[in-house]
Amino acid sequence: MAQRIVVIGGGAAGIGAAGAAKVTDPAADVRVYTEFEDVGYSPCGIPYVHGKEIPDFQRLFLATKEAYAQQGIDIHYETQATGFDTGKKTVSVAGGDEVPYDRLIVATGFHYASPGVAGLDLEGLYYVKNIRRAMEWDKTLDGVRSAVVVEASPLGLEMVTALLHRGIDVHLVDPGPWALAAATDPDIAAPVQESWLEKGAKLHFNTTLQGFTGDGGAVAAAQTSDGEIACDLAVICTGKAANTALARAAGLQTGSADGIVVDERMKTSAPGVWAAGDCIEVPHSVSNIPIQGLSGSHAYAQGKVAGTNAAGGERRYQPVSVPWGMVAGDWMIGGVSFSETLATALGIPHVVGTAEGISRARYYPGMAKLRVKLLAEPGTLRLIGAQMVGREGIKERADFLAMAVRTGITVGDLATMENVYSPPIGALNEPIALAAQALLAGQGS
Ligand SMILES: Cc1cc2nc3c(=O)[nH]c(=O)nc-3n(C[C@H](O)[C@H](O)[C@H](O)COP(=O)(O)OP(=O)(O)OC[C@H]3O[C@@H](n4cnc5c(N)ncnc54)[C@H](O)[C@@H]3O)c2cc1C
Repeated sequence: MAQRIVVIGGGAAGIGAAGAAKVTDPAADVRVYTEFEDVGYSPCGIPYVHGKEIPDFQRLFLATKEAYAQQGIDIHYETQATGFDTGKKTVSVAGGDEVPYDRLIVATGFHYASPGVAGLDLEGLYYVKNIRRAMEWDKTLDGVRSAVVVEASPLGLEMVTALLHRGIDVHLVDPGPWALAAATDPDIAAPVQESWLEKGAKLHFNTTLQGFTGDGGAVAAAQTSDGEIACDLAVICTGKAANTALARAAGLQTGSADGIVVDERMKTSAPGVWAAGDCIEVPHSVSNIPIQGLSGSHAYAQGKVAGTNAAGGERRYQPVSVPWGMVAGDWMIGGVSFSETLATALGIPHVVGTAEGISRARYYPGMAKLRVKLLAEPGTLRLIGAQMVGREGIKERADFLAMAVRTGITVGDLATMENVYSPPIGALNEPIALAAQALLAGQGS
């Protein structure tokens, strides 16, 4: 009899898992349960449709429902899983059905952490996630004059930028001292914030959200430690919390980051159960501390590992060094692992080198400054973190530096790295090498 593989969740992790399971065991009966109306779309593109850089939501769909059916993946849309029993090996779904499984993959993802304030039941509070709801909200945005974005998270940065593009009066409210303070240092965030201010954004840092007040059931103002801010809309961009309610109820072990604990094969503490994506936690490659709530690319890769192994194959997942990057205001920012601020807060010893280079040959049109900051472990000078701000070439450098962190490359290696010099795409002096040389000079080397 074909093995029955059930996946709870139709996001990047769940769909990655289902696809990999089917490839590993084409005869398997692979079923996916999702609360949403759709799978196979990119939520990552939603802020850019709101900002009008992407003309329509249809482009965000990566595969049709028929394509999944043709692959032999049986997707149950708008069907909530209400629990699972690892003894009986069944998943309960809304409506009362008990679905038997041989292997289960939990990919229930994340929800935005509740701001925990009064007024959360008001209309006009937007949690950006489901594409159908985003399509409806996009029409609402046409009538919005003033919006509050709650927290300068990665999504918060994207939504501030998108709403400004949309001509909306934007207030950013964040308890931290600068944008994305958990991942950046102030010198990296500063150009982004300046470009937002030039576009008319109002930035309320070191500011606590205290509640929302309404008018006729709809949000009319955000109450903050910096006073009342009138608004027609609030976008809740709080941190991503692991959605582990079902896993906890079923007795799966969760860890210090509140995610489901898995091994390198994405196997949970329960027999026959794997998990992947934003509902799990994985170790950081430098600190070994479990972390949770990474990116869509992490979720997809973890899903593939879980699906392959659940179906009887063999695939392992490595500790993460978390490259990140994004467009915010007129700038691109990005990095890997730790900022100076975060390393200091975590008590991780480090030395720092910073340099300002250029993205193309000095004389080539479009050349822009590119600031690079590198963090290394004292003594060994092994790279443990990086941050960058520029106008281009951030993603490729972040990916490269993440591999450097993972493989234990030192700042000495980076100081003498070879680099592409071609006027339209790269300067004679690579900014990463300049930052490494600055770090070495600071060490007296
Ligand atoms: C607006 C937005 C922008 C983003 N931008 C980026 C980006 O630029 N780059 C990037 O790498 N990533 C981005 N992401 C990805 C994101 O941050 C996550 O890492 C990714 O969505 C995690 O995938 P996941 O499958 O683990 O979980 P989720 O995407 O949270 O999916 C969870 C799935 O589980 C289902 N589910 C949950 N509970 C149940 C239940 N009880 N029964 C049935 N189904 C259930 C849901 O319906 C959903 O299908 C973005 C996400 C959003 C929403």
